[in-house]
Amino acid sequence: MIKFFNTLSGEIESFLPLAPGEVKLYTCGPTVYDYSHIGNFRAYIFEDLLKRFLIFKGFKVIHVMNITDVDDKTIKGANTLGIGLQEYTKKYIEAFFEDIRCMNIAPADHYPRATEHIMEMVEMIKILLKKGYAYRKDGSIYFSIAKFPAYGKLSKIDLKELKPGLRIDSDEYEKESAHDFALWKDKKEGEPFWETEIGPGRPGWHIECSVMSSKYLGQAFDIHCGGVDNIFPHHENEIAQSEAYSGKKFVNYWLHCHHLVVEGEKMSKSKGNFYTLRDLLEKNVDPLSLRFLLLSTHYRKVLNFTFETLNQAHSSLERIKDFLYELHNRSFKEGESKDILALIEETKQKFIDGLSDDLNISLALTALFELIRKANIFIAQEKMRKKDAENLISFIHSLDKVLAILPPQKEITLPTEILKKIEEREKARQEKKYALADRIRQELLLEGIVLEDTKEGVRWKIIKKEEKKFEN
Ligand SMILES: [Zn+2]
Repeated sequence: MIKFFNTLSGEIESFLPLAPGEVKLYTCGPTVYDYSHIGNFRAYIFEDLLKRFLIFKGFKVIHVMNITDVDDKTIKGANTLGIGLQEYTKKYIEAFFEDIRCMNIAPADHYPRATEHIMEMVEMIKILLKKGYAYRKDGSIYFSIAKFPAYGKLSKIDLKELKPGLRIDSDEYEKESAHDFALWKDKKEGEPFWETEIGPGRPGWHIECSVMSSKYLGQAFDIHCGGVDNIFPHHENEIAQSEAYSGKKFVNYWLHCHHLVVEGEKMSKSKGNFYTLRDLLEKNVDPLSLRFLLLSTHYRKVLNFTFETLNQAHSSLERIKDFLYELHNRSFKEGESKDILALIEETKQKFIDGLSDDLNISLALTALFELIRKANIFIAQEKMRKKDAENLISFIHSLDKVLAILPPQKEITLPTEILKKIEEREKARQEKKYALADRIRQELLLEGIVLEDTKEGVRWKIIKKEEKKFEN
């Protein structure tokens, strides 16, 4: 049984989807006013781990991630540059898709954009007006939180102090200023607007997620994710809008990941500790090492990003890759052993048990590294057989369907022309044509391949590209 911590109940709960075997998942996507930073990626990678694990467990997952391409921040950005909103956001939308590909994040089934769902938002607002949950004021339309008694159930906000009738127009605000929030903002000088049945204007930020989630997943669905920053006001407002509109429970499980800090401090541009993915790639950081780092802290703990932890993540990842190189390149005797089969079975169980326990990634990774340690002893004792090595390779790649930290398999074996050269050299040696054998060895060395002759035959090793160190 899979268990998750549900922010709504504040408890660990067994996971039961609405339809057996199928999970409907909504994750709040990027606001495309800038490049995504590593804090954003912490959330996206936690969501990716969740989704990949559910798929690994046999669920069909339907995943929707919105793209916020109209809100206070995008409008401000476009106005600062004096260009159109679409022209401004296009660049960051493209960058977002490049970035998630680079981080091995499995794509969502739908990426609805706010600006392409304005009319559906208008429809929902019309119903909210009709049902009395929303009201007009000076051309804008607000949601009346007093009309929705369950307001605060996600963020556990205390509404006693509230003064009724106060309104807030900005898309983001603190708990202390919980007030009636804008569903629709009146047309304003210097802002894009749409001519609609409810008047000219543009949507507030929160309404888009209520509208686009129900359009693609239905009025009630299984899991909604985001960072803890989203709990209030964004997700609280989503619940209010959606449940007031449909009369149904909006989402069964709310999963939120914690903050990312840099060197123990909140990331901020003014402190100079603010990193987008692109900043790190410019420093030659390996994206899969970064993915490993972001993945390896439990999602409900604060993740402290440092260049030291990044180097550690890089070394851990190298350990897995080195192990795979060994399995690929050594020549083992024919056969298969029960011990390795049992080790694989045991590791698989621990890996699944770990992740089933509210995505306990530490348990899952410990199981993997324990397998590597034990299998290496097996190799050293010359007990590893050919079929064992094959079983281990395919097992590790099956786990990587969840972790997604390994480069494609072809990069772990050698290109065929190199393999052919190794064979040619073997043949030359057997025929005692040592000069030819040596020449081929030299050629391979230039390609970065070292050959070792052992009693089991020839082994190859890729010379490590100089040890990578990432520094601030
Ligand atoms: Zn959202």
